[in-house]
Amino acid sequence: MADLIDLRSDTVTRPTPQMRRAMAEAEVGDDVFGDDPTVNALEEFAASLLGKEAALFVPTGSMGNQVCLGVLTSPGDEVVCEAGAHFLHYEGGSIAAHLGLVARPVAGEAGVITADQVAPLLRAGNDHNPRTAVVAFENTHNSAGGRVFPIDEARAIAKVATENDVAVHLDGARLFNAQAATGTPAAEWAACSDTLTFCFSKGLGAPIGSMVCSTADNIVAARRIRKRLGGGMRQVGVIAAAARVALEDGVERLAEDHANARILAEGLAELHGDAVELGSVETNMVYLNLRPFNKTGPQVGEALRARGVLTLGAMTDSMRLVTHRDVSTDDVRSALKALIEVLTE
Ligand SMILES: *Cc1c(COP(=O)(O)O)cnc(C)c1O
Repeated sequence: MADLIDLRSDTVTRPTPQMRRAMAEAEVGDDVFGDDPTVNALEEFAASLLGKEAALFVPTGSMGNQVCLGVLTSPGDEVVCEAGAHFLHYEGGSIAAHLGLVARPVAGEAGVITADQVAPLLRAGNDHNPRTAVVAFENTHNSAGGRVFPIDEARAIAKVATENDVAVHLDGARLFNAQAATGTPAAEWAACSDTLTFCFSKGLGAPIGSMVCSTADNIVAARRIRKRLGGGMRQVGVIAAAARVALEDGVERLAEDHANARILAEGLAELHGDAVELGSVETNMVYLNLRPFNKTGPQVGEALRARGVLTLGAMTDSMRLVTHRDVSTDDVRSALKALIEVLTE
């Protein structure tokens, strides 16, 4: 698929030559024994970057969410989250299957739940009600189209949660996109959370890996849950080395993805006023509304594929387009041209 322009997701990037070199040269050890110096250094680096005491390297963001929620809850507890939360819809029902949790979804606006919405839901638990153990928020919000979670609202949620003895989890799979879009350091959102996870394998461009960050005590508990889930990895410094490159070099670069998404969005909005809501394009995702064109996602997806552009065409009346390191500005302009042809033919 190397010659195709792949707008399906920012997970499709391939490791750069620099990552591959770092992987080849990585010092390794058995990380289950705590012996992998490359992993240990990455965990320390990530924790300090996010302003947390400690961190734990995990294979995926889905495992990161489970590890964090596992640390903060007991079976039968309740998690308040936005209705479109990634861990509710795209992680195989893991919080129910593996952690025995009840979700209390709240319909947000653009992926954002407010402290005012959340406050009346928090409950201590008794013989009847589940205990609310966690409020979770997602930044940037995937199914809302890469929307940034406003830092003031995150602070308000943290305040109300703390007052009610409820923990806060941040699903920050794309947290650094929020930093790139706003200039607010990722650590500011991290400060609103007890646990957080972010992905190296999305816009940052690493082939594999996510990080969990929290207090030192929570990370001790997190290691045990990671092992229980089958995520204890051995000479995993080879992967951590690529993740290190991604974290050191990938953050600055995210602004390019956002600028490319902007080019796509503006080109499509020019084609039809209702094609894209320009205000909703804050990071590296564009949701294209297909209704004005009387075409379905699968139809458009197929026609684009014939023109060398890959998209996820599963949705009937909209289409998600994601920019990332492996699509250049020229690629985006070519994809836009193909989109305009397909939508107007
Ligand atoms: C991608 C993503 C995850 C984790 O996905 P994995 O594929 O398991 O790494 C978690 N949350 C959000 C918001 C995501 O976009």
